[in-house]
Amino acid sequence: MRWLKRLGFRGLSIRDLAPYLSGEKVGKVVGITFDDGYQNNFEYVLPALDAVGFTATNYFVSGQIGGYNAWDRNIGIAYSRCMSKAQLREWAALGQEVGAHTVDHVRLTQVDIRIARQQIGQSRSHLEDMVGEAVTSFSYPYGDVSGAVRELVLEAGFSTAVTTKRGRIRPSDDRLLLPRRIIRADNRWPGLVRKCVTG
Ligand SMILES: [Zn+2]
Repeated sequence: MRWLKRLGFRGLSIRDLAPYLSGEKVGKVVGITFDDGYQNNFEYVLPALDAVGFTATNYFVSGQIGGYNAWDRNIGIAYSRCMSKAQLREWAALGQEVGAHTVDHVRLTQVDIRIARQQIGQSRSHLEDMVGEAVTSFSYPYGDVSGAVRELVLEAGFSTAVTTKRGRIRPSDDRLLLPRRIIRADNRWPGLVRKCVTG
């Protein structure tokens, strides 16, 4: 983040990025997102964002606020705590964006459409109740999406949704199927910057 700032970029949540996507604003901007709402994001990401004045979106699993990554339980992924309700609220109060990531981190194309509708819609209303502001950004768990799932996200009132499809966002992209690039802990800054500025 320090290197991005040094190179003249501003890191923004998807909400803050919207005017750039629509062409109302122009500038060197990079969208920053995190999935799952882990407590370690509260501990380490929040101070890092604050230090450079960037914003980011975190996509929370609404049924695990104060819980953990229960959805990873049977697939050998390490236990990790999710933010508490107080931390979620502080994340929002500091100008960081709260996005939704279903109630239980389900594979939306693999469940009955009624369940998928509930998982998408309830995650939004649960989070809105907790933070007291509109939740308009969504992230498909596992990047699992189909045309029908995309329609449900639209129907639930979300204005943007991110996938795990790799790439850079272009103005012509479908707002409900935005691509991303994965940044890993061991990515060094030149590679990271390349990921941000190349297709
Ligand atoms: Zn996830």
